[in-house]
Amino acid sequence: MPSLFDGASARIQAALEHIEISQDVAQRLAQPDAALKVGVPLRHDDGRMTVFSGYRVRYDTALGPAKGGIRFHPDVGADEVSTLAFWMTMKCAVMGLPFGGGKGGVAVDPKQFSPAELERLARAYIDQIADFIGPDSDIPAPDVNTNPRVMGWMADQYRIIARAHTPDVITGKPIEMGGSAGRATATGDGAFHVLSTMMQRWGREAKGTTVAIQGFGNAGQCFARRCADAGYTVVAVSDSSGGIHDAGGLDIDAVIETKNDKGSVSEAGGEAMSNADLITMEVDVLAPAALESVITSDNAGDVAAGVIVEIANGPVASEADATLIDNRVLVLPDILANAGGVTVSYFEWAQNRQAWYWDADTVAERLEQRMVEATHALADRAEDNDVDLRTAAYILALEQIEKATAAVGTSEFFRVGRGA
Ligand code: GLU
Repeated sequence: MPSLFDGASARIQAALEHIEISQDVAQRLAQPDAALKVGVPLRHDDGRMTVFSGYRVRYDTALGPAKGGIRFHPDVGADEVSTLAFWMTMKCAVMGLPFGGGKGGVAVDPKQFSPAELERLARAYIDQIADFIGPDSDIPAPDVNTNPRVMGWMADQYRIIARAHTPDVITGKPIEMGGSAGRATATGDGAFHVLSTMMQRWGREAKGTTVAIQGFGNAGQCFARRCADAGYTVVAVSDSSGGIHDAGGLDIDAVIETKNDKGSVSEAGGEAMSNADLITMEVDVLAPAALESVITSDNAGDVAAGVIVEIANGPVASEADATLIDNRVLVLPDILANAGGVTVSYFEWAQNRQAWYWDADTVAERLEQRMVEATHALADRAEDNDVDLRTAAYILALEQIEKATAAVGTSEFFRVGRGA
């Protein structure tokens, strides 16, 4: 099986077929700038100690300091973290943010821990990577199974190590610790803006459009609520324990309440449905909002949705791209569709550096404006180059990175005897 990273590189190759850019850029993007692997020791409440594997990767910093989340998940490993850091590089470039890409994680299932153990794990991870990150070099944020509280512990640990208040070292913090209004809902909000903008371009209405969401963490929940409020019919949602569906539309507020009270969506009414069936159900919009590679060559041919909104990072494996294109399934790619989170992270970092905070309406307005503009830019480019939206996104990202690379000179500029 190809590694996750091989799949990610395949998308660069697809974009390179349509543009002339310096070979230097492709070479730089073939491997990360720097990758760190650490042991993260955790003292359990009962006195035992376990050392977990932790990672942080700065993939590329041509456009600014590395930026990207930290996930706690048993499947975290070097290939996954590098690939996620690569996707962050593309995402920040597509959004025109002054950041490169980074990512981190610990190979652990945090659901088994007490709150005190989770705090010790968060602080121990920062102890191990503190020299590798910083407000001007690499700025972490939340990702799968981490949240504002975890970011708060991490920012506080960095403060202790640095002996200085540096809230701009981590984004997605609690508001009381310098977090931004609107960051908690930003990924779901951003995905909603991308979908709405495309719906407008297609001349389609929310009313009568059905939506299924695979993964009901923070981003999936916020997206579900925005869709329901706008008049879409959310007919199915799922989490790791399975899903529920109701052709008449689920009561999203009730499902969110059940998920938060009982830990899963399964008791929130509707008929039970497996994650696998949700992916292939008859629906207009399918939004995978959990982990990578849920749509592969095994099930891509069975996807019945007309539109996929990639709220997760990498939910469609690259091996499935061709089948989806052949079947005219329109994919709103992750590096645009889930970029609302890092966009408000950028707002948070900017606010921290100025110690000057924006109200919720300002954040919401600026997020919407950026998401709508980026979506139009990408859709226009897809039309101009006659390519799918993902390839257009990679084209735009690569061109941004090339501009920064060319500013200091590429091989074409330095080549001896170039005849200039
Ligand atoms: N983890 C999020 C992502 O994958 C957010 C990253 C950030 O805010 O830096 O986009």
